[in-house]
Amino acid sequence: MRFDVFSLFPEVFLPYLEISILKRAIANGLVEVYTHNIRDWSTDKHHTTDDTPYGGGGGMVMKPEPVFAAVESVLGAPPSCPVIMLSPQGELFTQAIARELATYDHLALLSGRYEGFDERIREHLATRVLSIGDYVLTGGELPALIVMDAVARLQPGVLGDREATDDDSFAEDGLLEYPQWTKPAVFRGWSVPEVMQQGNLGEQLKWKRKQSLIRTFKWRPDLLEKANLGDKDRKFLDRYLEDSNSDDV
Ligand code: SAM
Repeated sequence: MRFDVFSLFPEVFLPYLEISILKRAIANGLVEVYTHNIRDWSTDKHHTTDDTPYGGGGGMVMKPEPVFAAVESVLGAPPSCPVIMLSPQGELFTQAIARELATYDHLALLSGRYEGFDERIREHLATRVLSIGDYVLTGGELPALIVMDAVARLQPGVLGDREATDDDSFAEDGLLEYPQWTKPAVFRGWSVPEVMQQGNLGEQLKWKRKQSLIRTFKWRPDLLEKANLGDKDRKFLDRYLEDSNSDDV
């Protein structure tokens, strides 16, 4: 899968891409990342990429000419792949959107700075606008890395078997993942639950599912509305809810 990232600070991306799983994915040819400095497409002698907003107000706005020129010279006009603008005003990025984006073989990401992009870039160049959360950062580089990371790890072969995503939080079942422990079995007097220490795989699977349901119910009850639950899950949750109404959860 190929990513083209457009930014005023492309140097931000490389250190993150040169470690661990993404480094391996790039080395194995499963993921390609091309970073582009929008400033390289600015034609005036000061290489200006921003200007004051019409109607006043603080800050500067990213000019349309260098952004259109950068994207169109790399990807053609119209661009040959979806162009995702990062903005706090966009659709909230979720694991479901990551799964959807992972089905493309090529994506472009637009990282803004200052007060953001001239509106014509959103209207006539971006095909989708994504936000990574309801807060405002200084730039779109971290949001672009977040989208790239979440999408790249879903590409076949990027994660090893032992890093499979099936049990992850927000996977197809829509639940949070169960709690996990590693050795030692006892640390500072705190023990790993007996069921996880014993080798009964069937019991462990049942226990993990229940823990996922309990954890989601306690921490993210909103997810349960859309979760893929079977009859057993619902019965377990009903019983758990009855018990928790009598005891404190
Ligand atoms: N003035 C804009 C507003 O209030 O909506 C915020 C601009 S922000 C300071 C500058 C750039 O950072 C944006 O163009 C965007 O690319 C990026 N950015 C900041 N917060 C973001 C978020 N939560 N999700 C995605 N991108 C974000």
